[in-house]
Amino acid sequence: MTPLPAFNAPGRFYKGNLHTHSTASDAVRSPADVCATYRDAGYDFLALTDHFQARYNFPITDTRPFRTNSFTTILGAEVHAPKTSLGEIWHILSVGLPPDFAPTPPEETGPQLAARCAAAGAFVAIAHPAWYGLTIEDGEAIAAAHAVETYNRTSAVRTDRGDGWALLDAMLARGHRLNACATDDAHFKCNDFFGGFVMVRAPSLDPDALLTALKAGHYYSSQGPELHSIHQDGDHIAITCSPATTIMMLGRGSGATQIFGDTLTSARLPIEPLRGSPHARIVTIDANGKHAWSNPFWFDALNH
Ligand SMILES: [Zn+2]
Ligand SMILES: [Zn+2]
Repeated sequence: MTPLPAFNAPGRFYKGNLHTHSTASDAVRSPADVCATYRDAGYDFLALTDHFQARYNFPITDTRPFRTNSFTTILGAEVHAPKTSLGEIWHILSVGLPPDFAPTPPEETGPQLAARCAAAGAFVAIAHPAWYGLTIEDGEAIAAAHAVETYNRTSAVRTDRGDGWALLDAMLARGHRLNACATDDAHFKCNDFFGGFVMVRAPSLDPDALLTALKAGHYYSSQGPELHSIHQDGDHIAITCSPATTIMMLGRGSGATQIFGDTLTSARLPIEPLRGSPHARIVTIDANGKHAWSNPFWFDALNH
């Protein structure tokens, strides 16, 4: 029995949204209102990630005044620099930046900026890749990334381009070891909040503990359903979860296996159908069509 670290690390799961905007950039609710919105909805933490651009005076929005005993925040920003293969500015999610993070100089490129964020301690994710047509070469250029944003609620609502798994699966197939994250990217001009979140397993509700767990991949992503445990049991992967109609395991290329039911709360899926894939990931879908996604895991890492 080899559990995935995300389900076996000390502590408990904390629910959070990693990507959100406020009136400090281009959204319509104040930082206090945004924090109250998530706090009142039962979230444990929030990263307010306003657009880090000159036109907004390079905000690292200070959400520290809105922390309570049961709700915390991580400082961060969505950072921008030229330019993707389609000639657009990069959108890079950086969670865990210092309040005095230096403004982006005009000559800094996206990959350089991502590396500077990571060096400053941030969890770095390639934001909404489908929304603006990132290629796999773009994805590979952001060498500092910890994750790809694989579900972005506002992109789903506004452009039907909320999915980032196509890019991440392609990067995994080329041997890159990155994680996934689901976020809202809420701007509050439409129904773009409470759609995608992460469940981070950490020893306490402390911003630094959450950030350490994020960078270690000790979390899963969801639109609502819960994942309770995932572990390797010989030539099978065993999963327990909130009631689902599909539980699936996906590997490299078309390698996949799944079971269907009405209210499945566990599964024992054989590894063999993945046909030697070095990695796998778990997805559950509930009766309302909502998904939960594990991070990718690698069999060589599980077996050490
Ligand atoms: Zn963006
Ligand atoms: Zn955004």
